[in-house]
Amino acid sequence: MTYVITSMCLREGSCAPVCPVDCIVAGKPASEWPQYYIDRDTCIDCGACVSECPYGAIFPEEEVPEAYVAQGGERLSMPANTPGFAEIYEDVDINGNPIRLEATRVLDEGETVDFTPSIQVNVDFYESGPGYHALD
Ligand code: SF4
Repeated sequence: MTYVITSMCLREGSCAPVCPVDCIVAGKPASEWPQYYIDRDTCIDCGACVSECPYGAIFPEEEVPEAYVAQGGERLSMPANTPGFAEIYEDVDINGNPIRLEATRVLDEGETVDFTPSIQVNVDFYESGPGYHALD
């Protein structure tokens, strides 16, 4: 098992410092890898990251929602130029560093979203993306 960060992640960053095995990293470049990602091979399934996320973006893999019903106001972030994600999002993370996300959109109340594709996105980040080692 592993935990999975979904596209509700807005790079706020509270999850990474609480991970006891340091397996959560911010994607770089943010335009291509806009969220934080969990390394499934290192995650020990402790669950500590879940309650730290202010957006409820992290789930055990088996519980990633296939049909998440939005309360309304949740913001999703995708790689730059993803069709339908037209809003730029700017904020600061827990360390005061600026966040700029190129491709986001806000969910309407009652909108249904399948977050299961995020499972493969976390895998791809470590297997075919920059992974850990390019981030230093
Ligand atoms: Fe790290 Fe625990 Fe979250 Fe896995 S479940 S990513 S080990 S904090």
